[in-house]
Amino acid sequence: MKILDRFLNYVSIPTTSNSNSNTSPSTIEQKVLANYLVKELKELGINDIIFDDNHCYVYAYIKGNDDCNSIGFVSHLDTSEDAKGNDIKPQIIKNYDGNDIKLNNDKILSVKNNHDLKKHIGKTLITTDGTTLLGADDKAGIAEIVTMIEYIKKNNIDHGDIFICFTPDEEIGLGTKYIDTDIFKPDFAYTIDGSDLGEISYENFNAASIEINIKGVNVHAGLAKGIMVNSLLIANELNYWIPNTLPSNTEGYQGYYHLEKIEGNVSSTKMEYIIRDFSKDEFEKKKHLIEKIVSYLNKKYNNCIELKITDTYYNMYNMIYDKRYIIDIATKAMNNLNIKPLIIPTRGGTDGATLSYMGIPCPNIGAGGHNFHSIYEYVCLEDMINTSNLLTEIVKENNKVKRK
Ligand SMILES: [Zn+2]
Repeated sequence: MKILDRFLNYVSIPTTSNSNSNTSPSTIEQKVLANYLVKELKELGINDIIFDDNHCYVYAYIKGNDDCNSIGFVSHLDTSEDAKGNDIKPQIIKNYDGNDIKLNNDKILSVKNNHDLKKHIGKTLITTDGTTLLGADDKAGIAEIVTMIEYIKKNNIDHGDIFICFTPDEEIGLGTKYIDTDIFKPDFAYTIDGSDLGEISYENFNAASIEINIKGVNVHAGLAKGIMVNSLLIANELNYWIPNTLPSNTEGYQGYYHLEKIEGNVSSTKMEYIIRDFSKDEFEKKKHLIEKIVSYLNKKYNNCIELKITDTYYNMYNMIYDKRYIIDIATKAMNNLNIKPLIIPTRGGTDGATLSYMGIPCPNIGAGGHNFHSIYEYVCLEDMINTSNLLTEIVKENNKVKRK
């Protein structure tokens, strides 16, 4: 089957996840796509398929030779709840001319706001009709993986053991929650869940969330002299000491402090921060600074502040830097296909970061889509084809590296 048909089949199945759900998977629709994929993989001649019907994980295993490392590929079944994800009507624009694309009478995918469009002149683009997201995040990734498997089977490409996993609920942060690493157990893996062709990310933030509770003392304002302690003003003072490195003035490898929430009154105030940094040292320093500020204010205001710091996730690079071959295999494969490697630090967390700390080092590779989670989402067909070829090339390059 052609990758375009495959992709269109997947996006015709709605799989929006739901962050308010208490079930796993968060939405039952994801199982429809999962079952469809099980059937499709079987038709491609894959015999070792496990469908975890409880939690909606699709696992596939393709036995290969033992001389090289086993390799894994991961994509997610669900789409973001930030935009409507059902009744998707993809529009296919062949030989794109470089002009604005009319999605419908109100909505235009403009060149002015989408500089990446210019890269795709002469190519085929798949857009939405301006009322839903497209679902290239991450159904482009799934289509690329399945097409790679089809190619490898058809052409008897020599390979090591290959493990595939399609996960539910990535968009609500639960993609790896119930993953079974006794079934999905490659030496290393890649998530196929990024944007540009050739994009590779093997660094992401270290992340912590911080909760601060400040207790004040409230009395009638007219009789407050020497008695009132206003927790709102202490919160204000606390924030004054936080450095001015914010999400809004940082980029690339810069970390930040981010005040996400503040609510309260005179007698109690709750503040929530997140902190992010690529460097483990700087991450620890940021946490330590907050401890110091709180301890200073606690001395000044009679221990009225409670601080709770919780680490959320860590930079996958700590798990990858001594296994450089994982990155080298991918960039070598890109060079073989004249794809320019774009090394991009991920300013967030990824399922691959979690997997890396579960013992499966797992960088992320671009799947070709743009404007994720929005009605302006689009994907370039040629980039999907090239990414699928890249996955095949990665399997071939891995086959040349002796097992470590
Ligand atoms: Zn994604």
